[in-house]
Amino acid sequence: MLHLILDREAADRFAALTMTSLDELDLAPLPASYSIVFAYHAGQFPELATEVQAMLADPATATSQHCEAIYRRHFGSEPMLADYDETIRSLGRGVTEIADLLRTTSGHDRRFGVIGTELAALAGTADGAARNTLERICQELAALAQENRRLRAGVTERIEASTRSIARVSARFEVERARSRTDPLTRIGNRRCLDEEMHRHPLASLILADIDHFKRFNDSYGHKAGDLILVAFARILRQTAGSHGLAARFGGEEFAILLPDTTLAEATDVAERARTMLEGMAKITTKTGRSLSKVTASFGVAEGRAGEPPEALIERADRALYLAKNGGRNRVVAAVEAPA
Ligand code: GH3
Ligand code: MG
Ligand code: MG
Repeated sequence: MLHLILDREAADRFAALTMTSLDELDLAPLPASYSIVFAYHAGQFPELATEVQAMLADPATATSQHCEAIYRRHFGSEPMLADYDETIRSLGRGVTEIADLLRTTSGHDRRFGVIGTELAALAGTADGAARNTLERICQELAALAQENRRLRAGVTERIEASTRSIARVSARFEVERARSRTDPLTRIGNRRCLDEEMHRHPLASLILADIDHFKRFNDSYGHKAGDLILVAFARILRQTAGSHGLAARFGGEEFAILLPDTTLAEATDVAERARTMLEGMAKITTKTGRSLSKVTASFGVAEGRAGEPPEALIERADRALYLAKNGGRNRVVAAVEAPA
């Protein structure tokens, strides 16, 4: 991780410059891209600055992969994601605070106006030197009010531009975040997504599913045909998980469904539905017209317990899955809960 020693004000300034540069380069503020552009603006890494400068001069070279390569060259480790989400949020908060402050100064115009009118009335009743002085103060006041309005219009414009820029990069960040949680083959959640959701829902029920004799299937029909099965099975799992549950690819030919607020019995029913759907799935035909043999899967189900870490829940579901395999495959086994 990159750590610069900066005071708060400087950090805010560099962060704003970084967001503008990223926006110009059409890059999402992912850890690597954000860090190297920030370091460039902070001006503390001359060798890195040369590379970032080259990228700014030729935006076509600015890709997140290129940024990651620069990051690794100069910082040597893997960038982290979580901190940057918070950076964008805090930039957004900063801009909102400035906009609020600015709104409070719009009241000053009205007060300038009221005082100006009172002074003009006073000047009308005075004479000689006093009248001249009062008239001069009136003019100064009007000039100040005008300057105030001009400054505010300029700042407002810049704030609006920053707000738009932050909204754009934060939308791109969300897209990248969704991508980092999705399995590219099956388009359902990946292991990272499952882990995050398990932490958010520790009491959820978990179904683990593993395709039966999948190695044999691959050996008979080839890896590409195997991929078709994985995609079809993922679709079944997403359908059975419903809008409430999460279907994810656990890895390889192993999948999971996480079901918050669902009892073990209900989750077992969901698994049974997925099992029969796969078993009853219409024959898949490859592009070359070859019909693939049907496949089945085995399922293990367990319900989260208070105070239990996610790994322990996975372990219990996995043991149930093992029993399903040993019991003959193509079946659902619920974890036997120890008596309270
Ligand atoms: P079991 O019923 O005991 O689960 O037997 P299995 O053959 O399914 O289990 P095993 O763990 O021996 O083999 C898993 C196979 O899954 C081997 C591997 O090639 C295949 N596999 C893993 N990931 C993918 C993938 O992304 N695409 C394809 N086509 N196959 C995959
Ligand atoms: Mg397996
Ligand atoms: Mg298997």
